[in-house]
Amino acid sequence: MEQWQKMIRDSVHTVDQLVENFGINRKAAQELDEFFQARINPYYLSLIRYPGDPIWLQCVPDKIELEDFKAEDDPLMEDAMSPVSNITHRYPDRALFLVTSQCGIYCRFCTRKRKVGNYEKISMKGLEAAFKYLEEHSKIRDVILSGGDPLMLTDAMLEKILNRLRQIKHIEIIRLGTRMPVVLPQRITPKLCNMLKKYHPVYLNTHFNHPWEITSESSRACELLADAGIPVGNQMVIMRNVNDDPDVVKELMQKLLRIRVRPYYMYMADETKGANHFRTSIETGMKIAEALRGHTSGLAVPHFVIDAPGGGGKIPLLPNYVLHMDEEKIILRNFKNKVYSYKNYADKNNPNGFGKKKKVKNTKKRTVKKKAEVRVLEEVEG
Ligand code: SF4
Repeated sequence: MEQWQKMIRDSVHTVDQLVENFGINRKAAQELDEFFQARINPYYLSLIRYPGDPIWLQCVPDKIELEDFKAEDDPLMEDAMSPVSNITHRYPDRALFLVTSQCGIYCRFCTRKRKVGNYEKISMKGLEAAFKYLEEHSKIRDVILSGGDPLMLTDAMLEKILNRLRQIKHIEIIRLGTRMPVVLPQRITPKLCNMLKKYHPVYLNTHFNHPWEITSESSRACELLADAGIPVGNQMVIMRNVNDDPDVVKELMQKLLRIRVRPYYMYMADETKGANHFRTSIETGMKIAEALRGHTSGLAVPHFVIDAPGGGGKIPLLPNYVLHMDEEKIILRNFKNKVYSYKNYADKNNPNGFGKKKKVKNTKKRTVKKKAEVRVLEEVEG
């Protein structure tokens, strides 16, 4: 058994352990366990500094989850967009491939609780039908392995899947969606990285939510991946009392770049059963987005999005930097609230913009055209 597997084995996960470790009332602990089981491995547990801190909130069950049963099980309608088991096919050229129900910890905010935890929630028998679907759909050029967490598979099992995907010629890109570099960085070993790099291009998206998750262990894991030529991106979710503070998010984004992780998406939290207490207002999200843009390197600024309920996909949000726009100009404000004007140029989408062409008929074509251009210039600039 590898070290990371022993740490999974030694996780806090029973009702007794929840009562002993976190002082949760036994009846509530039982109900919580039935709703969505717990798994807190010894590494992630060691990051907790005090009860209720941003690490604790992400992994320790709370009875508040039990007051929130009216929300959706599958807010992103992944199941409705699943043509065969284990595949979600929402966008034309990419597909999500669920390869396990297991994770290094069970996050209390997870939107895929219906799929995560018990082994039977994602059937390994569905893999064959999924491969067949991917083989038959030649428009799919990008496959995202997810779950659960694909790095909960052994190296040998994961390699079998990668090998099979690489035999499908139209699949150009393989992505891994995994929280392991954050929650169990011991999983990222040189052996794993040597295996993964045989199947390039392989990209990996992980999920840091708070600067305390950047430790010497998680830094080493991300650097091992980067050294193996695997670009690592981060998807963060804005959550109440975890990271709903512009300074915390800025610190996280800057620290991610130092460990060679590119901030990729920052999400508003999904409308999820048992997890709505994590949600914040859109205004809070906008404030965080605005505190990044211009105030730190563009590399540290992720796309700010809502994953639209009902399966609408990721829709970008941007604080309002456009004060006015017409055929001739756009009026903008910058991150310091200074106002600037930019001339709108003429092309097929905007024939009346700056530099527009005039139709000329007579022999003095060039002179007339020149005069017309001067006049347009005068009009625009005046
Ligand atoms: S690692 Fe991902 S899939 Fe697993 S519980 Fe956490 S958020 Fe859900």
